[in-house]
Amino acid sequence: MVQALNAAQDPILIADQKAKIVFVNSAFEKLTGYQSTEILGKTPRLLQSGNHDPIFYRDLWKKLSQGQGFRATFMNRRKNGQVFYAEQSIAPLKDKQGNITHFVSVAKDISDIVEREKTLSELAHHDQLTGLLNRHAGERLLHNQLEQLTQDQDGCFCLIVCDIDFFKQINDQHGHITGDRVIQDVAHTMNQLARQTDAVIRWGGDEFVLIVDAPLPVALKLAERVRSTVNLIPDYQIGKLSMSFGIAEAKTGETMTDLFARADAALYQAKQKGRNCVVSA
Ligand code: GH3
Ligand code: MG
Repeated sequence: MVQALNAAQDPILIADQKAKIVFVNSAFEKLTGYQSTEILGKTPRLLQSGNHDPIFYRDLWKKLSQGQGFRATFMNRRKNGQVFYAEQSIAPLKDKQGNITHFVSVAKDISDIVEREKTLSELAHHDQLTGLLNRHAGERLLHNQLEQLTQDQDGCFCLIVCDIDFFKQINDQHGHITGDRVIQDVAHTMNQLARQTDAVIRWGGDEFVLIVDAPLPVALKLAERVRSTVNLIPDYQIGKLSMSFGIAEAKTGETMTDLFARADAALYQAKQKGRNCVVSA
């Protein structure tokens, strides 16, 4: 019996009704880094990564104590501290009287799949050149922010739309590679100056969007700081670098199109006024 369990490719753990571990197979030892001798008598809590909230474990125990099975993706921790993902199904074993005597957990290590999905999601939501959020991710974020605003009457946020001045000239006179470097420098500057709660998005080309989780005066200050810092980016014989900014504070019930139209109109005015300035709607 033990030989059969040890031959299994997938990690298996058996615990008694008090959740004390009474058996782990070789695949379990290999995955977690724990030898069975050091884990027997302990509880599976030892593997917890701290990444699940208490409700997750409460659900697990509720199901099991009712005699039902539980299946979920667990984020567990190896002996060396590394987190791994396991698709785990846990089932209670009952005696003839129907009393639970043991719990059997069979896991499948899905860390590779989860890591691959994370990379794909990272690629899908981020701009390759700058590492900032891309337009697709930005649109989703903005959509959520607008919905949130409709629900939460006290909330507010601002949209900053900004664009590098005379960027075509930089490309034309100094080449596309220099142009790319300028875009990266601008992205870096914006990322450095934005707060944790703000979102910095490369909207496309030389255009960036900031979603600022604060009222207009705060967004104006941030835009002004970005504007003046961009002026200080060391030049590559391209002369002083500058950006123009349009800001609009979102109105409750407003559509994304309307909010953008107001911020874009403000940006247009900033360009008309001679660029390197901030205009609010
Ligand atoms: P304005 O001050 O009115 O904004 O003038 P501008 O020259 O900056 O005009 P615009 O914003 O329309 O120019 C954007 C240019 O950005 C056009 C396009 O060739 C260039 N561009 C778009 N994406 C990239 C990119 O990824 N890398 C580089 N190097 N250039 C890009
Ligand atoms: Mg431009």
